Amino acid sequence: MRFRVLFLYVFLLAIPASQQATSQSRSQEFHHIRPRLILQITVDQLRSDLVWRYEDRFGEGGFRRLIDGGTVYLDAHHGHANTETIVGHTTLSTGADPSAHGMIGNVWLDRATGTLRYNIEDARYPILTAGAGVDQATELDPTQRAARSDGRSPSAIQVSTFSDEFRLFYGKESKVFAVSVKDRGAVSMAGHMGKAFWFSKQKGEFVTSKYYYDEYPGWVVEHNDGRPAEAFSNITWDLLHDRATYRFRDQDDRPYETSLPGFGRIFPHEFGDSDGKYFTTFLTLSPAGDQMTADFARAILTNEHLGEDEIPDYLSVSFSSTDYVGHIFGPSSLEAEDNILQLDKTLAGLFDFIDETIGLQNTLIILSADHGGPEAPGYLTELGFDTDYIHPDEFDRAPAIEALKKQFGIGDELITTYYHPYLYLNRDLIAARGLDQGEVESAIAAEVTKFDGVAVAISSTALTEGLVPGYPILKAVLRNFSPSRSGDIYVVFEPNRFINDFDGLNVAATHGSPWRYDTHVPLMMAGPGIRSQFVSRHVETVDLARTLSLLIGAKVPSGAVGKPLVEVFRTP
Ligand SMILES: [Zn+2]
Repeated sequence: MRFRVLFLYVFLLAIPASQQATSQSRSQEFHHIRPRLILQITVDQLRSDLVWRYEDRFGEGGFRRLIDGGTVYLDAHHGHANTETIVGHTTLSTGADPSAHGMIGNVWLDRATGTLRYNIEDARYPILTAGAGVDQATELDPTQRAARSDGRSPSAIQVSTFSDEFRLFYGKESKVFAVSVKDRGAVSMAGHMGKAFWFSKQKGEFVTSKYYYDEYPGWVVEHNDGRPAEAFSNITWDLLHDRATYRFRDQDDRPYETSLPGFGRIFPHEFGDSDGKYFTTFLTLSPAGDQMTADFARAILTNEHLGEDEIPDYLSVSFSSTDYVGHIFGPSSLEAEDNILQLDKTLAGLFDFIDETIGLQNTLIILSADHGGPEAPGYLTELGFDTDYIHPDEFDRAPAIEALKKQFGIGDELITTYYHPYLYLNRDLIAARGLDQGEVESAIAAEVTKFDGVAVAISSTALTEGLVPGYPILKAVLRNFSPSRSGDIYVVFEPNRFINDFDGLNVAATHGSPWRYDTHVPLMMAGPGIRSQFVSRHVETVDLARTLSLLIGAKVPSGAVGKPLVEVFRTP
């Protein structure tokens, strides 16, 4: 024992005095933060540069509160390949890669049933309001249309979220809520133990499922009785400011923008009468969707008494309008420009409300995005940038694939389906013919890689057996790989190559690639103990949940792989 003490003494002497002082002062001065409220904001499809493009047009109380008063990461990226909504949200909430959290896409083929499944669908937990589920006939969101029931739960999310760890750390009295227009924008963030609410286009009100409640809390009934959507009946979406102040003032009427009947592609956009077939859909593709979401967030704060006592609470608000507006009009459109300025105002309203009730000095605010997005191909073409469209449904009939089918002695049944981003092969038939699954995948992948507009097609078997080199794109594909859910071949298109078809609807722009325009997102944090600074080093969205856990002292979410964002750990 004496020897060990002596050894330690000698060892300490070997450390320069300056370093000893540093480690001592750190252990004495670091404080875990304990805000009354953690407010996590996710803006769907907010590519990083869109913040900076309009920075000087923002008011004082919205984005500027985070930009001026918080830690701002300039080079934050998603590290997985399939940059879609559920994938990005769940990565932000869990700090895990899709390979661990299991949300590998908005939709995947369920091998057990042979049918497509929507990420968070769960028939065991129907929506509490009858008839509030997706109407297959009028729904524009193709991923929603893959769902076979209106039931929703987080049960397919395979790891814990930060919000789960938050609740486990502070105990049952601590409250966790999430709201979004999109079900997947709320369920992913509420985790397994919080409460999620989302907007039903069918009903024009906010709903939840049996997973969360047996019946609605009284205040939700009251909120919905106020008919939140009807306030927009027979009014129009107008520009917030004088048209002359807009960068895209002369570019409202572009041929590549989607012109939905009744809504059109130029200002003002009419919502129409509240009993119109697409009335609530139009609200979601305008700033109205975000305004209704913020109103509901205020109702949660008030009625659930969030941030009122010493026990911290968590609220996630995911704003969906930026995504829908980006899809329909493109991120460089007058609509997208106005939408972000309106979002800034909506954020300011929410922050002001929290300041008056809980106090922003007691609130940790985080803002990021589930993915970025490309420029509309039509806009790129206009500027002289080469783009093209890909038709993966036609891969199956390409001569090279037909030749492989002959070689393997399998006909049209060889490729079961393409659903972004995977080709699914008929594994049973391949096995029945005595063929090697990996060899068949590799042969098809090699041919698909040669197709116009395809950067690389990657066999899942080769990927998991380490048979492909570690290029960044391939790493992103591997981080997206779940053995039980991923398809057999991941197809990466070349940059600025797109699928035009949003399930029957031609849209202006579609994200979902591993290229930087889809991965680059804002990442900002402001609140008690967080200093004002810009950070230029490359960070990843998986870093966030781990950092939040470490900041409050909780254990990190079960699948978290990110690294701590060291810049937000302040010593006073
Ligand atoms: Zn989207």
